[in-house]
Amino acid sequence: MIFDNHNRPITYLRLAVTDRCNLRCFYCMPEEGIKYLPKSQLLTYEEMERLVRVLARLGVSKVRITGGEPFVRNGLMAFLWRLKATEGIEELNITTNGVLTEPLVPELVRLGIGSVNLSIDTLDRERFRQITRRDELPAVQGTLDALLKNNIPVKLNAVVMEGKNIEDLPLLAELTRDHPVEVRFIEEMPFNGEGSHYPVLNWTHRRILQELQTLYPGLTRQSDSPFSTASTYRIPGYQGTIGIIAAFTRTFCGTCNRIRLTAQGTLKTCLYDNGVLDVRALLRSGATDAELTAAFLKAFAHRPKNGFEAERERGPVTESMSTIGG
Ligand code: SAM
Repeated sequence: MIFDNHNRPITYLRLAVTDRCNLRCFYCMPEEGIKYLPKSQLLTYEEMERLVRVLARLGVSKVRITGGEPFVRNGLMAFLWRLKATEGIEELNITTNGVLTEPLVPELVRLGIGSVNLSIDTLDRERFRQITRRDELPAVQGTLDALLKNNIPVKLNAVVMEGKNIEDLPLLAELTRDHPVEVRFIEEMPFNGEGSHYPVLNWTHRRILQELQTLYPGLTRQSDSPFSTASTYRIPGYQGTIGIIAAFTRTFCGTCNRIRLTAQGTLKTCLYDNGVLDVRALLRSGATDAELTAAFLKAFAHRPKNGFEAERERGPVTESMSTIGG
């Protein structure tokens, strides 16, 4: 296992397979979308497989596929099967908006997907349309039903936003009554592709917790899984759990075990850094596995201590989360 310069193990890769998305969530990108990269600038599946092999030899054992929307890239399922067979990869998970996912759920079961994170900020069709600028809630709910029916472990991601979905906090929390899901309420981050963000965030993790405690006075703290970014709670008697993720307040950097590869093959050792290694250039200049390994190790030895240090080193973030993968 490899440890970084702050003695944190690096065991978890989040791999963005595309920067394209079929939703236009206002907190992620402008209405007109972002300028997508030409296909030649995206990593090929073969390149991604090679990088996962190299990283698995360094101790990465868990991979989460993300994007953009992973299922808009052709050939994704075949890629997942190959990735699942990679020596050293013990857990393969995916994050999706669920628009195209429902018909693929049976194959995800056969593949042995570890868990699916489904992004669903609201259970109200009109609010969903306003937030995502697309009328796709029925498709997302179809995916949720299929995941639950097939007993795939599910985490539901909801960004908490003033004036947009506060009334959904109890509606989403109620999903944990009868289903063993984790509903995760996430602080809004500045990765909206426009460079604008509140000077002070309205819905911090503390305020989200206060709101939930008011709604559910019996809310009970649970132990968090190791390296988790979420603080976990349970409403007594309910099957599922509620997570609160301080994604903007950045309270969990001390145990961060994750690295990211963007769709264009840039390594990020912190969500808030500006990309620390152009892996695609290395690959395409003919680097050997040993050279790739050396470059990764060098990057791991220079990780910022936390997301604030990373942001200070680069200046304010402006890019869309769709280019990073979240
Ligand atoms: N398309 C997939 C999906 O929707 O889950 C995967 C990629 S998406 C960028 C991953 C996650 O990032 C989603 O849960 C989304 O809500 C979250 N996200 C995007 N922009 C964000 C922002 N500005 N603040 C907080 N979360 C954000």
